[in-house]
Amino acid sequence: MAVRLPGQPGYDEATAVFNLTAPAEPAAAVVASTVEEIRAALEYARSFRMGVRVHTTGHASPTQRPMDGSLLLKVRPPGPVEVDASRRVARIPAGTLWGAVAEAAAPFGLAAPHGSSGTVGVVGYLLRGGMSYYGRQLGVATNLVRAVELVTADGSLVRASATENQELFWAVRGGGGGFGIVVALEVELFPAAKVITGSAFWAGSHAARLLDEWLRWSVDAPWEATTSLQIMNLPDLPEIPEVLRSGPVLSVDGAVLAVTEDGVATAQAQADELLGRLRSVAEPVMDSWALTKPSAVLEAHMDPEDPVPIAGDHLLLRDLDSAGAAEFLRVVGPESGSPFISAGMRQLGGAYSVADPAGGALSSFAGRFAYSGAGLVVDASSRDAVEGHCAVVRSALSPWDSGWTVPSFVENWQQPQRHLSEAAIARVDAVRAVVDPDGVFAGDVSPGATAPIF
Ligand SMILES: Cc1cc2nc3c(=O)[nH]c(=O)nc-3n(C[C@H](O)[C@H](O)[C@H](O)COP(=O)(O)OP(=O)(O)OC[C@H]3O[C@@H](n4cnc5c(N)ncnc54)[C@H](O)[C@@H]3O)c2cc1C
Repeated sequence: MAVRLPGQPGYDEATAVFNLTAPAEPAAAVVASTVEEIRAALEYARSFRMGVRVHTTGHASPTQRPMDGSLLLKVRPPGPVEVDASRRVARIPAGTLWGAVAEAAAPFGLAAPHGSSGTVGVVGYLLRGGMSYYGRQLGVATNLVRAVELVTADGSLVRASATENQELFWAVRGGGGGFGIVVALEVELFPAAKVITGSAFWAGSHAARLLDEWLRWSVDAPWEATTSLQIMNLPDLPEIPEVLRSGPVLSVDGAVLAVTEDGVATAQAQADELLGRLRSVAEPVMDSWALTKPSAVLEAHMDPEDPVPIAGDHLLLRDLDSAGAAEFLRVVGPESGSPFISAGMRQLGGAYSVADPAGGALSSFAGRFAYSGAGLVVDASSRDAVEGHCAVVRSALSPWDSGWTVPSFVENWQQPQRHLSEAAIARVDAVRAVVDPDGVFAGDVSPGATAPIF
């Protein structure tokens, strides 16, 4: 096992993060590919009295407290995603990105509960709940986790499932982290014959009518459809289509799932119902919605694939009535002068609202829309502009704020966050006290998912 110290070869690679606004600067870093190497890293950390942090991609690096004095571990076990098609379960080594799972599942006519980006790490996404474009039909993604293999603070390799270490299995699924180093997960896949997916863009001048139409459709939208609406101010970069760079645009993207070929006509009709309503407001300037293969869902949201410096905020909205929609447009709409590159809402409800009796600490979301707004931060003035505007939007949308948050959408560790009840916090803390009695992983626990200790 090689320990990388600041300034040494390998340190930059071992600490690289996706979100460049929050570089990881631990006292030491290790990339471990075996359980033995993880144990050696834990031993090293113990000998220097270091806390231990864990990253897969660093997509969520701003959500972690500064790493001063800590050891950062990245887990990269060798081996592919293994699909057991008869059980519809994938065994996924830690370190795997969602794109690889979708690719492994596709030949079996199966799909995975990934989010909008194939470059997000499976472990961090599922431990924090996970909001997919299949979620209104299938629920919070972590409900599909069937087993977790992790190394706890004393170096034990533990398997948690519905029949083994049940309390740990409950806690690790959405409990806020700090239970150990995950080395593999087993995740249930689902049949997916086809999807209707893509994104459509309109000139910002149509935003008010499009938002109104989307919100009215969302009230009793079919559970097979999960969508997102965003207002974007895209930079003038050659890789972005010119038609999207000439001013604010509104986009609606998402997916409608057809589990079997027999369900394709119904799914198409469900997609047409939404898209017809939106297209009758105005002709989109770009429109990629189409009947296609499930892996195309990873392209629909057009997430960045390379590291970016981005900062933002998140709220879980109870609902958004017409007054809320007007406030939303006032602060992030085309006329607002918002410095955000994107501000929008993921559609929740449907199965997202239904607690899973067999689920973990977080198995449903108590709101109808997950708001997030974010801007590029390239210097002090853009940071001030973006952070200042986050506060403006937070205040404007406060009447609709549920006060809860979706952990995978939390943007930074300083923002208010709450996704567990007091009883659930006490229960996850009791699990941590067993698997990590000395608090080796305490720095990795999401604020709000433990009794205050900091
Ligand atoms: C472009 C983009 C698109 C996104 N789209 C969605 C989306 O559609 N839906 C959604 O729900 N979220 C989405 N997210 C958020 C994403 O799910 C979270 O940022 C998630 O935490 C990323 O997981 P990661 O492992 O890649 O990130 P990391 O920053 O590496 O890890 C996040 C946290 O997970 C834990 N962790 C990671 N690996 C391990 C391990 N091996 N053992 C134990 N703990 C570990 C640690 O606590 C760590 O701090 C998106 C993020 C980005 C940047």
